[in-house]
Amino acid sequence: MARRILVAEDSPTTHEILKMLLSQRGHHVDIATDGEQALAALRQNSYDVALLDFHLPRMDGLQVATIFRREAGDRKIPKLIAITLDAEGLLAHPEGCHNFDHVLPKPLDIYEVARVVEDQAEIADMEAREAPPAEKSPGSAAVSRSPLESLGHNFLTWPGDIQAGHLSARAIQASLADPRFDGILIKEPVSVEDLGAIWRAKALFSLPIVDATGLLGHASDVDASKLTARDTTYLEQVLGKAHDRRMKLDRDVRFSEDLGEQLIGRLFVADQPLAPTYDPQSKWLVSYNVALATAVAVREAEALCERGLLRREFFDRFHVCPQCDSLRLHVREECRQCHSPQLEEEQYLHHFRCAYQGPEREFRRGDRLVCPKCRYELTHFGFDYDRPGSMVVCDACGHAASEPAVGFVCLDCGGHVDSDIAPPRDIYSYHLTDQGAGFAEHGHSLLGTASHALRFADLPLELVVALNSAAKKYNDAQVPFTLISLHYRNEKEIAAQHGARTFAKVRDLFIENLRTSLSSDADLVVSGHSRDFVLMAGSEPEETKADFDLLVAAAEKTLRCDIGPEFQVFGPGDFA
Ligand SMILES: [Zn+2]
Ligand SMILES: [Zn+2]
Ligand SMILES: [Zn+2]
Repeated sequence: MARRILVAEDSPTTHEILKMLLSQRGHHVDIATDGEQALAALRQNSYDVALLDFHLPRMDGLQVATIFRREAGDRKIPKLIAITLDAEGLLAHPEGCHNFDHVLPKPLDIYEVARVVEDQAEIADMEAREAPPAEKSPGSAAVSRSPLESLGHNFLTWPGDIQAGHLSARAIQASLADPRFDGILIKEPVSVEDLGAIWRAKALFSLPIVDATGLLGHASDVDASKLTARDTTYLEQVLGKAHDRRMKLDRDVRFSEDLGEQLIGRLFVADQPLAPTYDPQSKWLVSYNVALATAVAVREAEALCERGLLRREFFDRFHVCPQCDSLRLHVREECRQCHSPQLEEEQYLHHFRCAYQGPEREFRRGDRLVCPKCRYELTHFGFDYDRPGSMVVCDACGHAASEPAVGFVCLDCGGHVDSDIAPPRDIYSYHLTDQGAGFAEHGHSLLGTASHALRFADLPLELVVALNSAAKKYNDAQVPFTLISLHYRNEKEIAAQHGARTFAKVRDLFIENLRTSLSSDADLVVSGHSRDFVLMAGSEPEETKADFDLLVAAAEKTLRCDIGPEFQVFGPGDFA
């Protein structure tokens, strides 16, 4: 749907790019280059969304938003989105928190801008349908009977905001990883399967689940059913800790749609392993401390073990019904011949004279014991007979054996399974490895060489524009180009030892050196989130590779620590 959008941004490059990007998607875009222009435009026109750079000349973005919102009172106003280098700082600021509907961090990600703008416009539409105009969102929760909601937390609720096939405007806002949400409050009984909605939306999986029904058990983070309004310290702790750790999640993980990656993020935020508990309700006899069916949790966790992001710890061994895959097996002693569990234990006697051994019942003649083989009476224990042991005798078929067999009956399909046929299944708890925790905090860049594919969404805006024009020249006139993507093997280590600042300084110096030694002015060097890029117009990727090796070695020489630069080379073929 075409939207009316105001872009208030003083950098000509950025506003041109934003205008191009949003216009291409069918929206109508107005530009303001300072705060006063922005305020005037907001007063004059009716927009769906306004993007306000935080640092605008004459009047900053926050002032514009504050004044405009105050003037508007209860009137419906556009969604206001801040663009800033310091997203968390702005949201920590009470003014920023109240006056902006969303914050976009710099450097801007081309896809995120489009998505956020369109989602915000959609949220505005939904709010208009959902709520009476007096109610503002986000922040003010709907009137509700749960005492937990009066504690000042900002909860999404089940089923108010999240249902199996539906998310409210607030839930969509939270799925943009808005840090103003504290958790998901379960107000009505819900199955773990229904909560799948949380995983299908982005970012919601990282919110703690507070269960007011007390029925969700282990799958929730806090069982709030017995919590009194006075005794909320534990709740505060869980929410506070989850909030802090959620802020550390890398954007790759925060916005991941891959269930396994979401699970990594979830475990990182909860700061707990994926742990099983016995659960007779489950076919698996265990359930895990996440809102996922056990089979799904195990499947994902096993795949993450293969990737080195989780490691197993043994919990218990079960046996599986080969017919229906259930672990709910009834274990019993039974007859080897007919599987009847109706066994009686009998002493058996040994007659010394004829060496016959048999169950006592065969010897019993009223009060006397008579050998069934030789017909002599047994009179003296230890002298003419003894009791070497006992036997199990089947009441159903009469079969006697020294040991009973062990068999299973499946409680789910009713089938019978011999113990030696039922395959064992080991159940584990799963713990984040160092690499798993690193992935949660640093995203795909940590895996470095593991992800070779260049992801368009990772590229800085400026580079996307330059790439577009390079690709056009290639298509029109076969002018080749080379894109080099640099990442730093030792980033994490240096940041841990000397601080992230030191790493950033050395990286800047390295890039500066590289820039100086590049031969052509046509070469473009752009710094991204965790990668740097060099776009070389007119050069063949294959030929560039060797030269670039030398350039990197030279640029690295004067650095005070080894940041471990590694690079990948892409050419027109990679962008086909
Ligand atoms: Zn005998
Ligand atoms: Zn039997
Ligand atoms: Zn079965």
